[in-house]
Amino acid sequence: MTFWNTLLDLAGGEQSLRLWFALFLASGIVAGIWTGFFKARKIQPKGFKWTTFRNEIIFGLINVVISGAVIAFLIKFASAYASFIDGTPAWWMTALEYAVYFILFDTWFYWLHRLMHKEPIYYWVHKLHHLSTSTNVMTNFSVNPLESLINGGFVPLFILAFPIHRETMALITPTNVLMGLLIHSGYEFFPRWWNKSWATKWFITATFHDQHHKYFNYNFGGYTTVWDRICGTMRKKYESDFEAITTREGAR
Ligand SMILES: [Zn+2]
Ligand SMILES: [Zn+2]
Repeated sequence: MTFWNTLLDLAGGEQSLRLWFALFLASGIVAGIWTGFFKARKIQPKGFKWTTFRNEIIFGLINVVISGAVIAFLIKFASAYASFIDGTPAWWMTALEYAVYFILFDTWFYWLHRLMHKEPIYYWVHKLHHLSTSTNVMTNFSVNPLESLINGGFVPLFILAFPIHRETMALITPTNVLMGLLIHSGYEFFPRWWNKSWATKWFITATFHDQHHKYFNYNFGGYTTVWDRICGTMRKKYESDFEAITTREGAR
């Protein structure tokens, strides 16, 4: 029960700002440690630049303060009007609700992301995030607050449109930040067979999103590769590059 209570507490809205801050600080510490490790799995071995990193911290702080507060308010506001389903759900019900969120957010993110690459929206909303051409965990927070609101606005709308259990909500809330930290880490943690297995190749990797920052007009997906595969926006060399990174000397 304590596990659920803690998660529910964090998902409660007024705690969201604290959650953002905790993850922001944790990422800083993790970034510091990672800089010296996992050399073989570093996606762009020479990609790290201190000036970019400093800017990411500054932009990240501004973003976390502004969008953290606004999104926390929106989720709290939406929670007051959303009709959550009472009672502890069966595991498959939680999984089903979570899957609906996952698929819908993936679609929301892909299409809005492609829209954000069109001028003048790109200049006003998305350009800041693309100042980083090689990512680290801080890049995840280095986002224009407007962009954070466009992406973060999905959850309040989702809970207003779909009645779900609070337990599912507690899983949904941290998903974006955790996924963001993983795909911006700058390191490829997934196994070599990831893109060869029918079960896993549909989910994006750190290499996948790294290539969005490096090559720009490819790999728009935030959770899955599905829309990129359907629309032909997945980088042709993505899978062979992933293979090269994960089979480097010492990377196995
Ligand atoms: Zn982009
Ligand atoms: Zn990014």
